[in-house]
Amino acid sequence: MDKVEEQTKAGRFGQFGGQYIPETLMGEIDRLTAAYNKYKDDPDFKAELKDLLNNYAGRPSLLYHAKRMTEDLCGAQIYLKREDLNHTGSHKLNNVLGQALLAQRMGKTRLIAETGAGQHGVATATAAALMGMECEVFMGSLDVERQALNVYRMELLGAKVHSVTTGTGTLKDAVNAAMQEWTRRVDDTHYLIGSTMGPYPFPTMVRDFQSVISEEIKAQLLEQTGKLPDVVLACVGGGSNAMGAFYNFIDDKDVRLIGCEAAGKGIDTDQHAATLEKGRTGIFHGMKSKFLQDDDGDIKEVYSISAGLDYPGIGPEHAFLQEIHRAEYVGITDDEAVDAFEYIAQQEGIVAAIESCHAVAYVKKLAPTMRKDQIIVCNLSGRGDKDVAAIARYRGVDIHD
Ligand SMILES: *Cc1c(COP(=O)(O)O)cnc(C)c1O
Repeated sequence: MDKVEEQTKAGRFGQFGGQYIPETLMGEIDRLTAAYNKYKDDPDFKAELKDLLNNYAGRPSLLYHAKRMTEDLCGAQIYLKREDLNHTGSHKLNNVLGQALLAQRMGKTRLIAETGAGQHGVATATAAALMGMECEVFMGSLDVERQALNVYRMELLGAKVHSVTTGTGTLKDAVNAAMQEWTRRVDDTHYLIGSTMGPYPFPTMVRDFQSVISEEIKAQLLEQTGKLPDVVLACVGGGSNAMGAFYNFIDDKDVRLIGCEAAGKGIDTDQHAATLEKGRTGIFHGMKSKFLQDDDGDIKEVYSISAGLDYPGIGPEHAFLQEIHRAEYVGITDDEAVDAFEYIAQQEGIVAAIESCHAVAYVKKLAPTMRKDQIIVCNLSGRGDKDVAAIARYRGVDIHD
């Protein structure tokens, strides 16, 4: 990793990234950075994490040649990276297990986390239960109402859920509350950030823990076809599954990297979360990156049918990869994602997360424009059981979650 890695060392990706945090957190962020740099190459730490990933989370995940989709779309060969098969149903556990293990090495006994739809909260509560740690999850009050099942699931796993009533009672307010709680109590507490965002070292650390995805894709595809992919596709919310799927291909300049963001009801409406297409550079949640802002520079309300993609920012490394034209970012609307949800279920027998279906929707557009000897790898970030009731409602069928 030449250029990109160099930028990372200083906690910067070009102009993006950095550490925009209160003075009171500086010491703890420095301790975390030192611990991460110490343990990331430590053989015992790596062996223990690998054991958890393989024997608890279920790695390596499959790389599956989707033959019916390939035939139907009449173009590139389509391979699906099955992160949906991980324990707890998504890629999130890769990062959570890594950070929980690091926190334990640092002597912490308590994990706090923010969550929007509840997926990251459930993954963190899972790791806390597994490792015998305390867990408290911050969640916007509106999300607590909308995601009652996940709130109960976190409590079942032994976590305490705090309903955050400030602001709009959604994810960005939950992040603020978790950050405040961390500032208040750093001695025994690690703030387990769920995506490639926040102050350095989080964007780098989360990317590294997720990069197992592209490490496996590369080895599995070489074994199955003897080739590298022509395109790697993933959905982007904060950007962690996409960074994980991209990372080991960044230096393979012939591999196109494409991130799919939530265009909601269309990027020309005000109901979307297409940060890289419509956002402006700003500073929020401890980092310099692209954010959806109004004319006064205030963070905008965002919208997507997919709760995992409706964050008003994006990880700084994606902002950088876009700026240097190493990765491309496209918007996918709710309608397109829902069509893809039904399509992949019927073509391949896979009910994929609505987040992941933003990437599947772009496969449907791109594959027919490519040759049959070319390869697309699409990352399926999670499974879609959680979305079935909402998709039914979208189609006008009322069923209970
Ligand atoms: C949380 C989530 C996402 C979005 O998060 P990233 O950090 O952008 O990967 C995407 N897919 C699923 C299934 C998720 O749970």
